[in-house]
Amino acid sequence: MSMCFSEGFYKAIFEGCSDAIYVIDPLSSRILDANTCAWQDLGMSREQLLQHSVISLQQGVENEEHWAQIAAMITSSHPNAFTFIGRHYHQHGTYFPVEVYTSVIEFEGRQLFLSVARNLDRTSSQREAFRTKDARLTYALNEAVDGLWDWEISSSEVFFSPQLKRMLGYLPNEMEPNLETWTQALHESDRERVIAALNDHLEGRAASYSAEYQIRKRDGNYIWVRDRGRICQHDEAGKPLRMVGMVHDITRSKDLEDQLREQASHDHLTGLLNRRAGYIHFSKQLSYALRYNQQLSICLIDLDHFKNINDTYGHLVGDSVLKHFVELMNSTLRKSDSLMRWGGEEFLLLLPNTSVDNAKQLIEQLKETLGDTPVVLELEGREISYTFSAGLASFPIHSQSLDSLIKCADDALYEAKAEGRNRIYITREGDITQPELF
Ligand code: GH3
Ligand code: MG
Ligand code: MG
Repeated sequence: MSMCFSEGFYKAIFEGCSDAIYVIDPLSSRILDANTCAWQDLGMSREQLLQHSVISLQQGVENEEHWAQIAAMITSSHPNAFTFIGRHYHQHGTYFPVEVYTSVIEFEGRQLFLSVARNLDRTSSQREAFRTKDARLTYALNEAVDGLWDWEISSSEVFFSPQLKRMLGYLPNEMEPNLETWTQALHESDRERVIAALNDHLEGRAASYSAEYQIRKRDGNYIWVRDRGRICQHDEAGKPLRMVGMVHDITRSKDLEDQLREQASHDHLTGLLNRRAGYIHFSKQLSYALRYNQQLSICLIDLDHFKNINDTYGHLVGDSVLKHFVELMNSTLRKSDSLMRWGGEEFLLLLPNTSVDNAKQLIEQLKETLGDTPVVLELEGREISYTFSAGLASFPIHSQSLDSLIKCADDALYEAKAEGRNRIYITREGDITQPELF
């Protein structure tokens, strides 16, 4: 049997094998050699195949860093083979499912990976029609969504698709295949609601399960997902046996949604609530004050001669003055107070549960703080001092309605400006048209 030891004999076995065989460089992921079945499965010539690496052939292996992680796992599972269910790209741009067994071999003092890849399209075509259909459907769905799960309800066993694991930053052999893995990864603030939605479907109150929630990735960060599922198998008594679902990563659209919401309600320059959102906030605060019989004071503040600042120093410096003012106010105000950008250099200050006298004191204090804290121009080190005028009105003594409270404050502010600026006027009790200087 000397023929068994000839190089030709082993070459014939290698080339004749009905599964694809690859010899891979663990460091670069390059394909060093491959048999006939390999290049035929991929629709390439042997020469073409040898131009490739695992990264360009295997779907889901994204970059060198990811390959390094996988390579480390392959090495650590030695002497056992590392099993991986994935997909290989075909030259035509399609892909096919593969089951890959990778082991570590030593050749001339060098470590190499030997991968045997079984083309599941070929094996499944020999299985019964139903199973083939099921497998094809699963692969088709895999492509359409970011992740699939398949839950064996009685045993709590859950199959998480490789994509789902990838989405959460896990490697193919990670994530315990059980329900707890999922429930533990749900964000605290979403868990109860999501599990209730799942139970609604399991107990027949909802035709399907659907939820949007945050789920923890391997690195501890959370992503937003939309998860939808349905029971696909019952026992004879009608008890649910199996449920399948699909998960979409919706983090990007959630972020965009938050951003748009933020942009719609907040002023870009100062980060304060804008007039529209401020008005809504004000009306909520007013109904609260009404219901709980509390006082509420408001103050309209307008910076004095602001146009001069713009004209003298330029619009950018004008912007920093606005920011300076807001920072100063925010650091002085109480948590329950809110400052809104009512117009260009005009602000509405809302002081819940605050009497006129207390409001007066607070704004006097703000005025003093501003006097002590000029804006310092970064480049020249020059200081710019500025002042504001304010008009104050209070619920319920000056008015009980939102619009007329604003009008009271506005009239008082107008008077403060007319009388020379840098002062605070308060609407006179019982006479909303006659403001008074204090
Ligand atoms: P008064 O004491 O009467 O309030 O005088 P004023 O100059 O502050 O008032 P006026 O309403 O004439 O001018 C306000 C200026 O504020 C005009 C406008 O160009 C400027 N302004 C409005 N919004 C912004 C902004 O976001 N940035 C800058 N730099 N300027 C702004
Ligand atoms: Mg002004
Ligand atoms: Mg103004």
